[in-house]
Amino acid sequence: AELDTLDLVVLAAILLGTLAYFTKGKYWGIVKDPYATAFANANGAKAGRTRNIVEKMDESGKNCVIFYGSQTGTAEDYASRLAKEGKSRFGLETMVADLEEYDFDNLDTVPSDKVVMFVLATYGEGEPTDNAVDFYEFITGDDVALSEGNDPALGSLNYVAFGLGNNTYEHYNSMVRNVDKALQKLGAHRIGEAGEGDDGAGTMEEDFLAWKDPMWAALAAKMGLEEREAVYEPTFGIVDRDNLTRDSTEVYLGEPNKMHLEGTAKGPFNAHNPYIAPIAESRELFSAKDRNCIHLDIDVSGSNLTYQTGDHIAVWPTNPGDEVDRFLDVIGLTEKRNHVISVKALEPTAKVPFPTPTTYDAIVRYHLEVCAPVSRQFVATLAAFSPSDEIKAEMTRLGNDKDYFHDKTGPHFYNIARLLATVGKGQKWTNIPFSAFIEGLNKLQPRYYSISSSSLVQPKKISITAVVESQMIPGRSEPFRGVATNYLFALKQKQNGDPKPEPFGQTYELDGPRNKYDGVHVPVHVRHSNFKLPSDPGKPVIMIGPGTGVAPFRGFVQERARQAREGAEVGRTLLFFGCRKSTEDFMYESEWAEYKKDLGDKFEMVTAFSRESNKKVYVQHRLKERSKEVNELLQKKAFFYVCGDAANMAREVNSVLAQIIAEGRGVSEQKGEEVVKHMRAANQYQEDVW
Ligand code: FAD
Repeated sequence: AELDTLDLVVLAAILLGTLAYFTKGKYWGIVKDPYATAFANANGAKAGRTRNIVEKMDESGKNCVIFYGSQTGTAEDYASRLAKEGKSRFGLETMVADLEEYDFDNLDTVPSDKVVMFVLATYGEGEPTDNAVDFYEFITGDDVALSEGNDPALGSLNYVAFGLGNNTYEHYNSMVRNVDKALQKLGAHRIGEAGEGDDGAGTMEEDFLAWKDPMWAALAAKMGLEEREAVYEPTFGIVDRDNLTRDSTEVYLGEPNKMHLEGTAKGPFNAHNPYIAPIAESRELFSAKDRNCIHLDIDVSGSNLTYQTGDHIAVWPTNPGDEVDRFLDVIGLTEKRNHVISVKALEPTAKVPFPTPTTYDAIVRYHLEVCAPVSRQFVATLAAFSPSDEIKAEMTRLGNDKDYFHDKTGPHFYNIARLLATVGKGQKWTNIPFSAFIEGLNKLQPRYYSISSSSLVQPKKISITAVVESQMIPGRSEPFRGVATNYLFALKQKQNGDPKPEPFGQTYELDGPRNKYDGVHVPVHVRHSNFKLPSDPGKPVIMIGPGTGVAPFRGFVQERARQAREGAEVGRTLLFFGCRKSTEDFMYESEWAEYKKDLGDKFEMVTAFSRESNKKVYVQHRLKERSKEVNELLQKKAFFYVCGDAANMAREVNSVLAQIIAEGRGVSEQKGEEVVKHMRAANQYQEDVW
């Protein structure tokens, strides 16, 4: 294939970018992430902190560090749990560390009486999480520059590894696999198996629990550790601040950082620092009564936030009031919900995951993932604090017996408060130290959405297309409701003057801490992605986006329509969309017709309505019907995009495409698969799936 000028420009840019990237990987500390640095400066947070892990462990008296590479907080949570367990069961002096905050060129000086653990999530297409990029490039690089020049380089390093992945992705757990391989190659000694958790099969938690026990046994043997009766020691101390009230200016009521507290919030806006954005417009996209899908336009003109078509926007949700109430009630804190407290780390390497002084209400509402499924290990930890012996026996059984736990909790979608309320049979759990919740619950995580607008058309207005999460639960009157999407739904209701903005009886603090989100505002930041249109609009594109998977393709088509209107030569633009019924959940139906006015025959939308005939028709069936054209377009170097459901759709589209290529080119299916693999490697096949 010939390269045109635009391609060359893009290639040059990629090369330069790659060079900068690797340079950054080798000469630590010289070129830093401008965002991280600006944020650190703005907050004075990281100033003066050592990036030398050996030094850090020495000065804090630690013999075990647990590094995490985490995107959504789960790996970080597992790291904390390992730290806690190592300390309570074996008396290890543990610390948890963000991979991003340390350098690794002296990993060869970690003495053999210490152990380094890695808890590593694999993100997207087998990529490291944002905070693990530098480490990953370093450790898997061809020429790992370690300080001492030992042979083998990491001969004295003892390590433990666990990965978090999703088997529906092509590069299942590639982070932990590749890091493990790299460490082995450098002569390091792994203790226990390299564990792998599978989110795709829904067994992440159980995979983790099943992996860690033999790992601890192997570690105890290797390091001569003796197991003791596990004693709970709080990581955080709670200090009552009786001289402060929730109206005192220094008290955080949900503000994410000091700038937000003081009303001086400014960019860069990122995963540590959201922009409180006005919602310009919001509306419903479905006409079905019992299902909701919403479109939001987020106005970022008051910030320096930018995006490119295909990027993701992160929404920072708050928990619904009824769940906050339930949680505070079951642990007997309703009366004290507005008491001001400070939370102090009781040991130097622990970090309080939210700013204080604050209130119990603000912690539960803004900072803890209290609605998430309960973890079996956490239930086991809480057993010791049961209000009666009978309840303790039940909690212990739930904590130890996997099948019993899943029978009892699985069908009910219990979160922690619902479980405690059920098991406690009305008794309050007043013995649980509040520290246990800070340690045992995940931090409330931002939710990502594929931006559904084009940055060319609306650079300062970011669109979101989201289905409101709701699932019927047998035996419960009201369905399970997702955190972020119901929060967004409530904002939409408010904006549209609905007399009952609280959807389904759930109340949200829509005005935010100190009414700072008054009007209709939502905290957001933008995450850049690699899901991108070809730089040359003349290239053909094939897009597969059923349901909300169509989100980024609304942006893509919007962009190409604008380019066509402005006179660019735009290539074939083929979109496969699927939903249940044309009359029910056909999103943006009238908009597509508008885009067609600009794009003419270049644009075609192929629809699959799964519930309009006896036979269920999905996008992959329609794709198959278009085999001939699809194959021809691919031979003309069309870009191929898939967005939406990772579990089934994306996989099936992949295999249908391999068949199309095999048949169209008269090669074996295996060869077809290989062609698809090459397309992926060359970015000609891009996925944005969740
Ligand atoms: P959550 O409260 O997070 O619940 C999500 C699921 O977790 C539930 O459905 C349930 O299966 C499980 N769960 C939660 N709590 C419990 C419990 N107590 N017991 C048992 N199970 C439980 N979504 C879109 O609609 N549009 C998009 O464009 C889009 N783009 C995305 C792009 C990326 C890169 C990613 C990673 C995700 C994207 N998503 C998108 C998904 C989105 O981020 C959210 O996951 C989704 O909106 C649900 O969020 P929620 O807070 O409402 O639900």
